[in-house]
Amino acid sequence: MSTPADRPAPAAASAAGRPAPPRNGGVSFWYASTSLPRRRPPLDGDGRADVAIVGGGFTGLWTAYHLKRAQPDLDVVVLEREFCGFGASGRNGGWLSDHFTAPRERLAAEHGREAVLALQRAMRAALAEVLEVCARESIDADVVHHGVVQAARNPAQAARLRAHVAQERRWGHGEDDLVELSADELAERVRVAGALGGSWSPHCARVQPAKLVQGLAAAVERLGVRICESTTVREVVPGAARTDRGVVRAETVLTCLEGFTASLKGQRRTWLPLNSAIVVTAPLPAATWERIGWAGEELLGDMAHAYTYAQRTADGRIALGGRGVPYRFGSRTDRLGQTQRATIDQLTALLHDCFPALRGGDGLPAVPVEHAWCGVLGVPRDWSATVRLDRASGLGIAGGYVGNGVTTSNLMGRTLAELTLGVDSERTALPWVGRAARRWEPEPLRWIGANLVYALYRAADRREAAAASPRTSVLAKAAAALAGM
Ligand SMILES: Cc1cc2nc3c(=O)[nH]c(=O)nc-3n(C[C@H](O)[C@H](O)[C@H](O)COP(=O)(O)OP(=O)(O)OC[C@H]3O[C@@H](n4cnc5c(N)ncnc54)[C@H](O)[C@@H]3O)c2cc1C
Repeated sequence: MSTPADRPAPAAASAAGRPAPPRNGGVSFWYASTSLPRRRPPLDGDGRADVAIVGGGFTGLWTAYHLKRAQPDLDVVVLEREFCGFGASGRNGGWLSDHFTAPRERLAAEHGREAVLALQRAMRAALAEVLEVCARESIDADVVHHGVVQAARNPAQAARLRAHVAQERRWGHGEDDLVELSADELAERVRVAGALGGSWSPHCARVQPAKLVQGLAAAVERLGVRICESTTVREVVPGAARTDRGVVRAETVLTCLEGFTASLKGQRRTWLPLNSAIVVTAPLPAATWERIGWAGEELLGDMAHAYTYAQRTADGRIALGGRGVPYRFGSRTDRLGQTQRATIDQLTALLHDCFPALRGGDGLPAVPVEHAWCGVLGVPRDWSATVRLDRASGLGIAGGYVGNGVTTSNLMGRTLAELTLGVDSERTALPWVGRAARRWEPEPLRWIGANLVYALYRAADRREAAAASPRTSVLAKAAAALAGM
């Protein structure tokens, strides 16, 4: 049953004809549009399982799904602090894409070019698998598989886009994988104000993330996995997960917390919880959609350093996300997705920059922002996702997707399941298996570093937006050097 604290904060009444401020938090708009799930019962005292999974987001649920499909008699329990899909999995931008976070050149230097190509193939197979599971398990997640458009909004972004296309060609991606678009070709798909050109790739599908994660949790439960919600894991040790409701003893304990990993004892510096925020508009009138185009409902992004990601929702709104306040001191996370007013204002300004028709005028009504929220994703110190299982201790972990987790979590969950079952596959041979990044710096260095990197990126974006030059701002190079990328 949802509690009063779970429910979205109501939008304040409009004062003196001014539009009401957007609803803020309530986990995410995706739940406001479907309602928060009824909570499953918590763990009922001490217990046992073959495998204990900590965290009921995409990673934990995909791991459970693949474990049970491969070995139906395995006793698997998922321990979730709130409800399944409370974290990033129920709040994200809904890009089910083949993007992965692990610098390809570095991986190639360490493991060879073929290993990186295998990773790319595995990501595309994972994207297809998510779509197959939606069909098999009757999960209606508002899926539209029409690819992703990236728009270049100034000369520096256009130069970066061309360099990106050239780099993709060197990695063997042809016109079937990525097409460069002129300004006119871009406008035929979607009219982003001032855009100089763009690209389109078929390897991305739109999803409504809360519907996907709720459907997956139900599928996992149907397979016989026990899901204990309102159960906080405090510590993971070999052979046990210690929770506020009792201790679960299990030969294998898998940590699937991504941006919340710091909440476990001893894990504060493993992955940095990086914040991302989204705003969503009211449904657009047909006349405004005519002005904007976007009939194909592709995902939409730009080439900024602090990049923007957007989707046209199934009910005809625009959801647009970006970085906001990147990091909270001491690896703290938000409360129920509430984000700062300044972030809402920044994202709204960006939305209006891209789509001036939303401001209204010229025969069109203004389209207000109705809801804003944020969430955390996990960033490893080396910016590379990880999955590993230590056979001796039975402890495993997957995450660190740096904002590319919707598809990656499927691949990682399947890999973690195979590692647990001792199965060798093309996935368990991928170069990110077994990686361990060094830990983040202690505070206040972590806070200073993370916020400085994003302040530099944002300043670089502002300079590039104002300049006629195609050169990348030196501030962006400084940010990349500081981040160790
Ligand atoms: C705003 C935003 C937009 C994003 N957009 C995209 C996108 O469009 N495409 C994309 O690919 N990726 C995107 N991402 C990233 C992606 O959503 C995540 O990488 C992915 O969902 C991570 O899944 P997860 O299961 O590992 O973690 P989560 O979904 O965060 O799940 C972790 C779970 O653990 C629970 N938990 C926390 N602490 C404890 C504890 N101590 N004990 C037990 N349970 C605990 C939480 O309640 C949560 O349910 C976005 C992320 C954010 C925040």
